[in-house]
Amino acid sequence: MKGKHNFSAGPAILPAEVIQEAAAGVLNINNTGLSILEVSHRDKDFMAIMEEARSLVLELMGLGSEYKVLFLGGGASLQFAMVPSNLLVTGGTAAYLDTGVWAHKAIKEAKMVGNINIVGSSEKEKYNHIPKNFTIPTDANYLHITSNNTIYGTQMHHFPDSPIPVVCDMSSDIFSRKMDFNKFDLIYAGAQKNMGAAGATMVVVKESILGKTGRKMFSMLDYQVHIKGESMYNTPPVFSVYVCLLTMKWLKKNGGLAWIEEINRKKAEAMYAEIDRNSLFTGTVVKEDRSWMNATFLLTKPELEETFNKMWKEAGIVGIKGHRDVGGYRASMYNALTIEDVNALVGVMKELEKKNG
Ligand SMILES: *Cc1c(COP(=O)(O)O)cnc(C)c1O
Repeated sequence: MKGKHNFSAGPAILPAEVIQEAAAGVLNINNTGLSILEVSHRDKDFMAIMEEARSLVLELMGLGSEYKVLFLGGGASLQFAMVPSNLLVTGGTAAYLDTGVWAHKAIKEAKMVGNINIVGSSEKEKYNHIPKNFTIPTDANYLHITSNNTIYGTQMHHFPDSPIPVVCDMSSDIFSRKMDFNKFDLIYAGAQKNMGAAGATMVVVKESILGKTGRKMFSMLDYQVHIKGESMYNTPPVFSVYVCLLTMKWLKKNGGLAWIEEINRKKAEAMYAEIDRNSLFTGTVVKEDRSWMNATFLLTKPELEETFNKMWKEAGIVGIKGHRDVGGYRASMYNALTIEDVNALVGVMKELEKKNG
């Protein structure tokens, strides 16, 4: 929004032009004289939106038609249950990498379905890094990882070559960088962090990994049911899908993931350079695993908290208070955040040091 620098962790900042287009669609979609909020999802106007959104996901990721795209309800949190329900063979084992709260919640749900092998965890170090050199068991049904750990500010910058299917929760760094998406067999991401309005969760799944569990499933939890229904088995989160489409069009028009990666790299470099330079701040994450999306940091003089809080609020900065589990500060720098927004925060940090360093 105008005059604000929105560093919220999620729901989060969207491109101003996407918000404007979304607002226009709420008033009148495709000159139908109807609002996107009141058209049938079986109507050709919305069917075209869903079609285009699904194909743009594959286009942006460079994936072929062996992958299917779904926009489902229930948040990324429902995927914690759907993934094991659809992939964990009865009596089998799934491998999970424990990188924090979200991974932990995924593990909790999967344990209801089958055996879980936690192949690595950074819990003892308060999740300040990504576990390395873990062994992927060849007999597990799949490996589940979380590419960006929103709460702690860690991010995977390398992905293992895996002998088994890889499932990745990309909720908080989806479409933020180029990647070889073919390395993954199932990717999911809630819309509200980096691609749209809350409500939809994107699932990209290689169809060939499905249908092997021997388990009876509720229709709504079954990926194959949703694939057959072309992501319209039931009423999809219509407005959220629409906003996702607008964001993806914005990405494509500007140069896709290569373009946004450069911007995100510059923002992260500027942010971490200041955290490292400024004597009043310290980062909380091992440098090599720092997230480009969520930068977490602490004041070295906690007595300055009130002063700092007042200063950034006065500068129009929003949403940098750290997650309640971690404390301190967290600057979320999702795709729509600009380098100018980052510079505004860096400016306040410099000023704090000038006055109190
Ligand atoms: C926010 C988040 C979730 C939870 O998303 P919901 O849509 O609220 O269920 C899961 N995983 C990661 C990595 C997240 O950042």
